[in-house]
Order: sequence, then structure tokens, then C-alpha cells
Amino acid sequence: MKIAYKTLDDVNVAGKRVLLRVDLNVPVKNGLVTDTMRIDRIVPTVQELKKKGARIILLSHFGRPKGKIVREMSLRPVLRPLQSALGGESLVFSEDCIGPPAEQASKRLKDGEVALFENLRFHGGEERNDPVFARALAASGQIYVNDAFAAAHRAHASVAAITKFLPSVAGRLMQAELVTLERILESPERPLAAIIGGAKISTKLELLGNLTSKVNLLVIGGGMANTFLDAAGIEVGASMCERRMADEANRITMVAKQNNCEIVLPVDAVVAGQLAANTRTVTVPINKVPKQGMILDIGPESVKVIEAKLAECKSLVWNGPMCAFETPPFDAGTTAVAHAVARLTRVKKLISVAGGGDTVAALSKAGVIGDFTYVSTAGGAFLEWIEGKELPGITALSGK
Ligand code: ADP
Ligand code: MG
Repeated sequence: MKIAYKTLDDVNVAGKRVLLRVDLNVPVKNGLVTDTMRIDRIVPTVQELKKKGARIILLSHFGRPKGKIVREMSLRPVLRPLQSALGGESLVFSEDCIGPPAEQASKRLKDGEVALFENLRFHGGEERNDPVFARALAASGQIYVNDAFAAAHRAHASVAAITKFLPSVAGRLMQAELVTLERILESPERPLAAIIGGAKISTKLELLGNLTSKVNLLVIGGGMANTFLDAAGIEVGASMCERRMADEANRITMVAKQNNCEIVLPVDAVVAGQLAANTRTVTVPINKVPKQGMILDIGPESVKVIEAKLAECKSLVWNGPMCAFETPPFDAGTTAVAHAVARLTRVKKLISVAGGGDTVAALSKAGVIGDFTYVSTAGGAFLEWIEGKELPGITALSGK
């Protein structure tokens, strides 16, 4: 869906206080940031604003503190990696994103300097899209720039309501995400394939239904595949599976047929009695899953089938891992498919786009991020964009 929005080319930011909404919701373990992709990807916007002499205030949410101050969900651990991503200069940190601390921090800023404000979601008004909270946020700035594509599907105060109070434009990352997704998916080179996996079965079923009218090939993996296998009468044992969604799964299979969209399901599986690292596994044809077993990965035959099908396609969108990739050896299937996609992309046979928190983590683990045509910082927003749904964060930038 194409929506007109303004960009950094349409505003004069020199000497102005710019509120830059970013998504710094990065994975943190024991106080350390474990993946910096979301930080690295906002650097071009921040550098451009610095060069133009703006005073930059970074706004972000982190985790789900639900309107309360939760120390473990402070944005403080992000400060140091952010600092090094921006070339080592020191940043101003404000303990609160509104009120006197925010006011003081924003007043202290000189042209080209950067401040980070504390977690937006420490205030309940953020998720409620509260105009009073949005106005308090807006008080620190003169121009609003949204670079948080990953949060664009949420109608939250720092994404939607704030645009009522300040001139509002899209940042360079937001632009890159939208332009790239539009270029590849508005009129994609066909055949177009989608790989959809992961765990959010019920929510992604709707997506699958919508996708069958957009893609030529739909590879279903992960926990979601089990729901389709079960619906087709195949025993999935103790696997992750939503049995009550069987009718819905069969309906999607029928709609796919009508739309000439080929569905590919796993033909074999790696099965274990429990989800645990280096536990005993068996690899079986998909119709031989033991009653007590859990499907935790696609097997080598499935990888071969997927690879052969993708070799016939020209474009690919991928969200959701094929397996429980966090726990070895169940990462093997996702890694093998990732390498196949990387290879096809490198030899220019495939245009490949992937997105989703866990998906990106899996691709990163496989070491193939750089080989993909494009990796989106977004999960939910990426999916809703593909579905053709309206994204509140983008609509807000259009002034409608
Ligand atoms: P994303 O964050 O990329 O949108 P999801 O959150 O939907 O993806 O799904 C990722 C999760 O799905 C991972 O934690 C992975 O372990 C899990 N998963 C995938 N396949 C299986 C499976 N067969 N059994 C159990 N968990 C699975
Ligand atoms: Mg996830």
C-alpha cells in the first residue's frame, strides 16, 4: 500500500530540537546488548541530522513495562553501544522522557549533539496513544522524525498522537524500509515465494490467508506447519500445534489452490521427546512421527525440496524460523534454508527479503545477513505491510 509522507528533505532542521523516534528494542542479556542491528540501522539518519546541525533527541520503547518504571527495562544498557555506533561521542541521557529531566536535557543540547530519553513505555500514556502524554513528549522538540518502522503498526503516542503537535516526517531508515518493500513487493519479479514459519500460529494464519493471493509459492515451516499437517490428517504427536485451527488451515489450503498458489509443507522432520540442547533425535518421514515425539526441525529432505522450489523463483519474503533454532541441533534446518537463500541471492537468481526479531536472529546465527537482498528491522510491521494493512505510524506521517 503506497502512502505519501514527508521526509528529511522537506524540513529545515538546522539548530532545531528534533525528536527522533527509533526502535531500540534490541535483545539484551545480563545488561549487554547481544545484537546491534537496530542500533546500526538508525546511524545514517542520526549522522545526517548531526551534519545538518540539528539537536537530536532519541525516543524509544524497550520491552513491555506496562506503564510502570521497571529498572530491568531501562534504555541505559543501550547507551554505550549507541555511543560507539555514533563514533564514540558521549550522549546525554534523560531519566524521564517527559517533565523537568527531559526539559533540562533538551535545553542542554547544542547543535549536532544527541540525547537519549528513557523508555517511553514507563508511561501508560504511550500505549494508550494518549494526547496529553503526546503533548508532553512534543514539548521537548520542534520537529518530529519517525525512523521506527518496526513500531509503525502500533497506534502509540510516540508514533501516532505526537504527529498532531509537531511537523512530522519519515527518517531515512523508515524511508529505506518502505521504498525497498514497495520496490520488491508492489510489482515483484515472479515467481514470488514466501517462507512463513515461527510460533505465532493463530496470528500468522490470517497472514497466510492474505498471502495466498499475493505469492506463487508458500513454504510453511516451524510450529505453523504442524497445524497444517494435523489438519490434513497427519499425526504430529506432541508437537506445537493448534488443533482448533484445523478448519482454518484447510480453508487456506483451498483458497491457495483457487489462487494458483503452491503450498509446500515439510516432507520429513527431526523429532525428539523434549526441547533440550543435544537431546536424542530421530529423523523420520513426515507420516511417521511417533505419538510421543515433538517435531522440532524440518529434515534434510524438506530442505532439498524447499531449495529446489526456491531455485525456480525470482523473489522471496521470509518471516519465521523453520524450527526451534535457539536450541541445537534444531537450528540445522533453518540454517540450511538460510544458506540456500544466501547462495541463490549471491548468484543473482533470487531477490530475498527477510524480517522478524527471531528470524533475523536465526539468519544472523547462520551468518548470512549480508547475503540477503534486504533484511527488515521489523517483524509485526513487516508482516502487516505485506498483508496490505494500514500502518498507523505511516498514516500519521501522511497528515491524514
Ligand atoms: P519472528 O520473531 O521472526 O516473527 P516468531 O516469534 O513467530 O518469529 O517465531 C519464532 C519462534 O518460533 C522461535 O522461538 C522458535 O523457537 C519457534 N519455533 C519455530 N518452529 C518451532 C517448532 N517446530 N517447535 C517449537 N518452536 C518452534
Ligand atoms: Mg518473535
